[in-house]
Amino acid sequence: MCEVVVLHDGYSFVNNDGEMIANCSCTLIKGPHNIIIDTMTPWDSEVILTALKEHQITPDDINFVVSTHGHSDHTGNNNLFLKATHIVGFSISFKDKYYIHPFEKGEEYVINDFVKIIPTPGHTLSDVTVLVKSEEENIAIVGDLFEKYEDVNNQSIWQEAGSEDPIKQVKNRTMIADIANWIIPGHGPKFEVTDEMRMLLKNQTTLGA
Ligand SMILES: [Zn+2]
Repeated sequence: MCEVVVLHDGYSFVNNDGEMIANCSCTLIKGPHNIIIDTMTPWDSEVILTALKEHQITPDDINFVVSTHGHSDHTGNNNLFLKATHIVGFSISFKDKYYIHPFEKGEEYVINDFVKIIPTPGHTLSDVTVLVKSEEENIAIVGDLFEKYEDVNNQSIWQEAGSEDPIKQVKNRTMIADIANWIIPGHGPKFEVTDEMRMLLKNQTTLGA
């Protein structure tokens, strides 16, 4: 079994000076492998270390670091975790060793019986989603595939956050919503996926394609 803990709720907004302010959601999966997903900006190491300590985890206990994509707010503290295999988008490495995995052909990367990594390009061309399965529910940690809950109704939110391939992103949003009960988005709190949401996303697919 796995436990999914959000260590930090991501956010994004434009401040009064018109500047974009953003930091990502950081998530810990405790289970047969300990996995940390999206390590915030380089200025947030204390935030992460303190949050891990609250869950009795040291950086050396982490087996996998996953950055859902290569942007700076999702990779900032990867080097705290030197015992871990690092997955940054479609790239998998340990020290100077790189592992070839055909994410670009749609192939999932299985970590264990409960956790797998699914290619979900769109925001960048090599974005991934981490899917955690339990008996009752599936939790998807999606990075910026979903910016936040509000972008289900208001597509301009994820589109204006930058999308290298909006058509792929629309399709992958629908695909993930179909298999997930909960979504942890890149820049907002965790939300529950409803059938109404799934229908809405399907219609967006039709419009976007
Ligand atoms: Zn982001």
